[in-house]
This record gives sequence, structure tokens and C-alpha cells, in this order.
Amino acid sequence: MSLKDHLLARIALEGPMRLDDYMQSCLLHPDWGYYTTREPFGEKGDFTTAPEISQMFGELVGLSLAQCWLDQGAPAPFTLAELGPGRGTLMADALRACAGVPGFVDAAQVILVEASPALRAVQRETLSAHKVTWQNSVSDLPDAPLFLIANEFFDALPIRQFVRQGAGWAERLVGAAGGTLTYGLGPVAPQPALDHRLKDTRDGDLVELRGAAAEIMQRLGTLISQQGGAGLIFDYGDWRALGDTLQALENHQPANPLGTPGRADLTAHVDFEALTDACPCAFSKVTPQGVFLERLGITARAQKLAHTLTGGALQSHIAAHRRLTHPTEMGNLFKVMGLYQAGHTPPPGTEA
Ligand code: SAH
Repeated sequence: MSLKDHLLARIALEGPMRLDDYMQSCLLHPDWGYYTTREPFGEKGDFTTAPEISQMFGELVGLSLAQCWLDQGAPAPFTLAELGPGRGTLMADALRACAGVPGFVDAAQVILVEASPALRAVQRETLSAHKVTWQNSVSDLPDAPLFLIANEFFDALPIRQFVRQGAGWAERLVGAAGGTLTYGLGPVAPQPALDHRLKDTRDGDLVELRGAAAEIMQRLGTLISQQGGAGLIFDYGDWRALGDTLQALENHQPANPLGTPGRADLTAHVDFEALTDACPCAFSKVTPQGVFLERLGITARAQKLAHTLTGGALQSHIAAHRRLTHPTEMGNLFKVMGLYQAGHTPPPGTEA
């Protein structure tokens, strides 16, 4: 049996399913889910993320948070948490860079929030030199100052999609026809969570909602505002999203999101405005990733590393720097938003 057969049988029994249910099954089904059964990153995988492109990314992210920690009087102990750490590369690079900040690594309780057992095993290996614990959810994060990293985590959280019809919304659902998964629309109904979108949409426009993100932001923002700390959230997306942004990637190629459930990565743009709606702490402007990295001195760091490299390694290092920062590569598509306590300054690289 495949995930597709399983979903077709479920739809035959229960009727069309919500897109967030579909996405959740595709990504995290215990037997057939994409993250639960595969290691999706790198050249052999389906996509490459910023920390996998160059060590400079994790180093600068770690140092931005370490500066916040120093500015707050070096609280100890504190939580250094990452959501959806993938292969654990970002955290390893951050901890290595922050070893130069006296007291930081010793005071850090490193917590990885990871749903996939397969990826937890990879993270255990990458971070074998460090004491690390794993949690299923941000609700289990301890009451302590929180210094938080999330790179391409929110885009993997399931979304629902709604098509505007008059003053109401029809939900886009996943159904079946002739053994194939297809989209359909549910009945038109009011959606209080989309009231603010009645102002900037027209009939037929599609908007997305990510319910799980609101709960997560509520918890993170409460911890940071009450206990202190800071956060850096990176993702592709923008302040406000409009239209269908659900995308599937298989072997680095775009694929049909309904075509091969469980075998392709499924993501959708992050609507940063929606993240802030549920966030009780202060947040920075949404900043392009390239601008953030330049502000933190990535070019100086790249030049320093370049001195140690020659030939092909030097060429790929130069390409990696460009890929992370250039506006036509990841520099503008990816954004970062800083979280911080009201009355403090936003994390270095972001601005109020
Ligand atoms: N941050 C990493 C990986 C991004 S991919 C990098 O930059 O390379 C998304 C990550 O989030 C994976 O580790 C995936 O298993 C994890 N993930 C997805 N949904 C999750 C959820 N609901 N709870 C916890 N982890 C989740």
C-alpha cells in the first residue's frame, strides 16, 4: 500500500479532506510521511537549505542570538531551541561560532523540536559533541529565557486554502476522481479568521491560513516576553500572502502537490503578518535574508574563509556566498523576522 492508496481509500469512506490534513499526512504520516521516512536535504535529496549551503549561515545566526544574550546580561541557564532542525547543521555551526562567547555554550540548554524520528537520528549524529534534548512541541519548552532559531520550519506547517465568494469563503478540499487526487471546493461559509482579508481581496481570490503557526507563535512570544530571550525566524514568504503558494519539490524539480503524496516535499509561503497576529512579544521588520547576512558581516567572514581554500572548494565557497545573499538567488526570496522583548533592541541584523 502507498500513501496515495491510503488517502484514496480514506476519501472514498469519509469524503473530501481538508488541505491541512492532506499536507500533514504527506509530511508526517508515521509510515509514509515525507519527513518521517526520508532525508530530504542536499544534492541527493529534494531541496537544499541555507545551513546546508554554507557554514556561514549558522555561524552568523548563532552570533546574532549570542549578542542578544550578552545584551540581556547573560542569563543562565537559558534555552537555545531550534524548530525543525533538519540535519542539525545550523545548530552545530551556531554552537561552534558561539564557543568564542564566554559562558554562552555552558549556560545553553539545547532543545530541538523535531517531529521526525529519522531526522532526530541524523541530528543526534551531527550534534554528538553536545548535550541536546528533543521535544515534540513548543508547548514543552521550559519556563526560561528562550533564544530561538527556525529556518524553513513554518513553511512545512500545514495550511488551509479558501476561495473568496462574496462575503464568504469556499474551502479548497482534496477529493478523488478515477483513482487520482483532485481539488474541489466546499460550501461557502463565513471565516472569521479571514475577516481582515475581505478588504484586500476580490471574488475568486485564494488566501491561505496556517492554524498551527498561531499556536506556536503564542507560546514562543509568551516565553520571550515573560522570560526574556530573542528569536530569528527565516522562511520564504512575505509580510502578507495572496494566491495559491502550495508547492511540491521532488529531486529539486517542481511537482504536482497532489501527484506523489509522501514522496515530494510540500511547503507554502509564510505569511509573516499572520505570525505576528498571534505573537505576544515584540517583532522586527521582515528583512530580506541577504540584507540580514550582509549587516552581520558575511562578506568579511567569506573573505576570511576564502584564504584557506583553493580550486574547486574556493569556487563553491564563492558560489555559496552569492547563493545565500544575492537578490536573484535566496537573498530576497527568503526573509527573516526577529522576535524580542518589548523595550529591548531587535536581534542584530534585523530592525524595529
Ligand atoms: N531547518 C532545517 C530543515 C528545514 S525542513 C534546515 O534549514 O536545513 C523542515 C524541518 O521541520 C524538518 O526537520 C522536519 O522534520 C521538521 N518538521 C516539520 N513539521 C514539523 C512539526 N510539525 N513539528 C516538528 N518538526 C517539524
